[in-house]
Amino acid sequence: MSFPWRSYLATELRWAGLLFLLSACQEPSPSTEKPLLRPSSQRPFFSAESAYTHIQTQLSFGMRIPGTLSHKAAGDWLVSTFRRYGAQVYEQVGMYRGTPIRNIIASFGPTEGRRVLLSAHWDSRPYADRDARQPEAPVPGANDGASGVAILLEVARLLGQQPPSYPIDVILWDAEDLGREGVEDSYCLGSQYWLESPYPYPPQAYAWGINLDMVGAKGATFLQEGYSRQYAPLLTEAVWQLARQLGYQRFFLPLAGDPIVDDPFYLSLRGKIPMLNIIHRDPSGKGFFPEWHTTEDDLDVIDRATLQAVGETLIAFLYAANPQNFSPV
Ligand SMILES: [Zn+2]
Repeated sequence: MSFPWRSYLATELRWAGLLFLLSACQEPSPSTEKPLLRPSSQRPFFSAESAYTHIQTQLSFGMRIPGTLSHKAAGDWLVSTFRRYGAQVYEQVGMYRGTPIRNIIASFGPTEGRRVLLSAHWDSRPYADRDARQPEAPVPGANDGASGVAILLEVARLLGQQPPSYPIDVILWDAEDLGREGVEDSYCLGSQYWLESPYPYPPQAYAWGINLDMVGAKGATFLQEGYSRQYAPLLTEAVWQLARQLGYQRFFLPLAGDPIVDDPFYLSLRGKIPMLNIIHRDPSGKGFFPEWHTTEDDLDVIDRATLQAVGETLIAFLYAANPQNFSPV
C-alpha cells in the first residue's frame, strides 16, 4: 500500500493558500497599520469586580432622581469615595431651569497643565417611558448611568494609587436623564449648567475628554458615535485602535454610529472640548441596549466582561496619552 504524498501535499498547500487569502481579506496587515498610541506596560490593573460592586452600591441607595433623599445619599457616598481615593473633590450645587443640580468633580494629578475630562451621568431616569407595562415607574439605571460611574470610580481608585503625570478631572453630571423625547435641550441639564457657569476649571482648560454612557451591558457594542467622529476624530480612532490592540474588537466595532445628543455633545459644541462618547449602540445603529429606559435596566443586565473591556481600554489610554503630546483633532 502506498500513501499518495503528492496529492496530499497539493491539497494541504491549496488549503494553506486559501486560508492565507481569506485572512488577508479580513484583517488589516499589522505592518501597514500605524498605531496612534501604544499601551504602556506601566499601567495599573483595572478590576471589573470592583466596578461591578460600585454598580451594586449605587443601586442599593434606590433611584438617583434629583431632589430625592436616595439621590442625596448616593451623592454623599460618591463624594466620600472619591475623597477616600485621594481626590481633591469639588461640588457644584445650584438650580438650573427649575431643577436642583449637584455635579461632582474629583481631580487627580498635578494642578498645572492641560487637563483631561472623564465623565458619566450619576442620576437615574424617573420614568421608564420605553416600558410597555410600567411606563410611569422609575428606571433603576444599572446600565444607564451607574455603569459609567462605576468604571470611573475604579479608574479614580487607580489614579489615586498611581497618580497621572497630567491633571485629570472626573466629572459626574447630574440631571442628564430627566428629558422628554422631542423636547429640545431637556436632557443633560447638569452639563449645560456647568457650561453656563464652569467650576472649578473652565472648558478651555481641557485638552480633550471621554464620556461613558451605558457601558456595562452583556454583549455591548460601541459604534464610533457621530459627534465624536466630528469633534474628536483622532481621539476616537486612537481609542478604537487601542481597544483592538487589547483584544476588545468585539465590543469596539469599527463602524460609524449616528450622532447622539448627550452630555459630550454640549461639551464639544458649546464648550469646544473635543469629546469622545463611548456609548452602547446596537450593530444596526438603530437602538441602545434592549432594556434601555425600562424597569428592567437592573443588575441582571450587567456583565463584568463589558466593564473590563471598557475600563481596561480607558486605563490603557490614560496612561499612554499625555495631552502635552497627544492632540485629538
Ligand atoms: Zn437614559
